[in-house]
Amino acid sequence: MKEYNRILVTAALPYANGPLHIGHLAGCYIPSDIYVRYQRARKRNILFVGGSDEHGVPITIRALKEGVTPQQIVDKYHASIKQSFADLGISFDIYSRTSNPVHHQTAADFFKNLYDKGLFEEKETEQYFDEKANVFLADRYITGTCPVCGNPNAYGDQCEKCGSSLSPDQLINPHSSLSDAIPVKRKTKHWYFPLQHYEAWLKEWVLEEHKEWKNNVYGQCKSWLDNGLQSRAMTRDSNWGIKVPLPDAEGKVLYVWFDAPIGYISATKELTDKWADYWCKEDTKLVHFIGKDNIVFHCIIFPAMLKAHGGFVLPDNVPANEFLNIEGEKVSTSRNWAVWANEYVQDFPGCEDVLRYVLCANLPEAKDNDFTWKDFQERNNSELVAIFGNFVNRAFVLMHKLCGGKVPPLHNGIIDQKDKQLIEDIGAAKGKITQSIEEYRFREALFEVIDLARKGNKYMQEKEPWIKAKLVNEGGTTGEAAQKEIDNCLHLSLQLTANLAILIHPFLPGTARKMLHLMKVVDKMLEWENAGSLNLLRVGYSLRAPELLFRKIEDAEITAQVEKLRTNATKPAAIAEEKQPEPVKAIQIKPEIVYDDFAKLDLKVATILAAEKVEKADKLLKLEVDLGFEKRTIVSGIALHFTPEEIVGKQVVVVTNLAPRKMRGIESNGMILMAEDKTGKLHFINPENAIEPGAGVS
Ligand SMILES: [Zn+2]
Repeated sequence: MKEYNRILVTAALPYANGPLHIGHLAGCYIPSDIYVRYQRARKRNILFVGGSDEHGVPITIRALKEGVTPQQIVDKYHASIKQSFADLGISFDIYSRTSNPVHHQTAADFFKNLYDKGLFEEKETEQYFDEKANVFLADRYITGTCPVCGNPNAYGDQCEKCGSSLSPDQLINPHSSLSDAIPVKRKTKHWYFPLQHYEAWLKEWVLEEHKEWKNNVYGQCKSWLDNGLQSRAMTRDSNWGIKVPLPDAEGKVLYVWFDAPIGYISATKELTDKWADYWCKEDTKLVHFIGKDNIVFHCIIFPAMLKAHGGFVLPDNVPANEFLNIEGEKVSTSRNWAVWANEYVQDFPGCEDVLRYVLCANLPEAKDNDFTWKDFQERNNSELVAIFGNFVNRAFVLMHKLCGGKVPPLHNGIIDQKDKQLIEDIGAAKGKITQSIEEYRFREALFEVIDLARKGNKYMQEKEPWIKAKLVNEGGTTGEAAQKEIDNCLHLSLQLTANLAILIHPFLPGTARKMLHLMKVVDKMLEWENAGSLNLLRVGYSLRAPELLFRKIEDAEITAQVEKLRTNATKPAAIAEEKQPEPVKAIQIKPEIVYDDFAKLDLKVATILAAEKVEKADKLLKLEVDLGFEKRTIVSGIALHFTPEEIVGKQVVVVTNLAPRKMRGIESNGMILMAEDKTGKLHFINPENAIEPGAGVS
């Protein structure tokens, strides 16, 4: 492990050609913000930079569509995006924009540096030109009839109706979308960056030195590198962007993917005079949070540029996420199939943390994931309200009722096994959460926080201070002893509450703040080193009256959101007819079988005796089941759906005669059956009332 003295975190620059949606948030802004808040709580030297990407073809196209200038577009959406980040607590140290002069200067200097070293290849090629508008046309600006499906509005790079990838040459009746002119080919000169010269170095640096990168990131890099790299044009013909800083480059700008990542450097410059410490000193840990569509730019092209320039640190990690779909369909901004951050904030005032929570719980860390409004409601009502909020509220209500509104003492002499277990759980949670965040597994980290609250509820349920309160009323030695037990239960529950505030803070900053208010303590308590302590709240300290941390979300609110999503989505009629979106899981009926096929299966009811997580496998649980005639070990991929505690004692149907299989070194003897609903959530299939294990199922 390298020793680092400072951390620089960047989050992908969103295109300022539309508002922010939850796909963006789940892709990189929620994870980066959690990581940064956690590092700040550890008092590490860290900067978090971001900004709007205001160059590139999509912006000029949007301007064209709306009949305004590109500058008007970027001004409008930069403001909108910046506001959404602020509303949702994405805590950038600076949120800049690539139209700022400091960025133009930095990017132009960077280009000039490579140019002066003779690193670019100058190439003249033929490109399409619009003689009426007097401009070269990017492929997107050329429209025509798709040779594959006959769609009359296909673009020069792609037909959005049939999904074919096209080149302008293939279009039938091509014309410019700027002027309707028929494009002609004209010679133009561009500067190409020869990526192939960096291929050997990149293979060593990425494939050998960064084997720890996430599988999806490493895999994509490997595939690019295995296929061989080629020169890429780093300039474009356009009037919108950073002018190529050379005398013979009229009408040419830097390719947006050349200038955008340099935007991280410019933003840091804008933020602090010490910017070079973060970009040039070897003991900096640089982390780029991005979505999967940006992997090649951040893991191959930008590092090659940095290497070519020299003097810059390279990323230590690029924890890219996959995509978040909505209600089973890919986000499409052109179709308006999206949940917009600004609308969410309006529709659910005061529920900013709920969105952070649900997105974090569903982060597409290893594969594409799905956001559904139903799941949003369920997670709010059954996790935030019923587990986390409920625990904190109970601790406060009971402390006021049974301990006079003050933190009661801990009587060491009567600490029992349940108290000891809770103390142990509080200590263990910090380590698990710390490790998960350091290793960019934010879902797992959040799950551990909620699990700790769940343990708090269980503890209180078992200690039953409200029952003991009846004994207190009897007075005498019995009453005194009962009060001591109540004191211990609430003392520990309140210390746990303080711990929960520290641990939930990177994920749900607003909630942590509310908890500080309730506990009448200052921000300093949220420092990470305080987690695990049982002396966070002083004995005798009076705390505020309880207030609910979360509210229930009603069915009507969810119905309204689903309705809104479907109404707002524009579905061109032709597309709707021919290309129905696939449901999340299509109903599939397998081919017919005869009874004998079925009779080969040995299905029996079993009771789960014990369950535990399998190390280094976040989906697997190791189960001990009782089949009546014997006990067996079964490894099951249900860990993302159930906690070990909640399934112990449940009955399941087991396929008992399935050949044994080793998973993570554990032999699994059989398979348990579960029902999967259309959101992918699992449900138990079990007898209505518990029966003797071993009963046959047929
Ligand atoms: Zn087509």
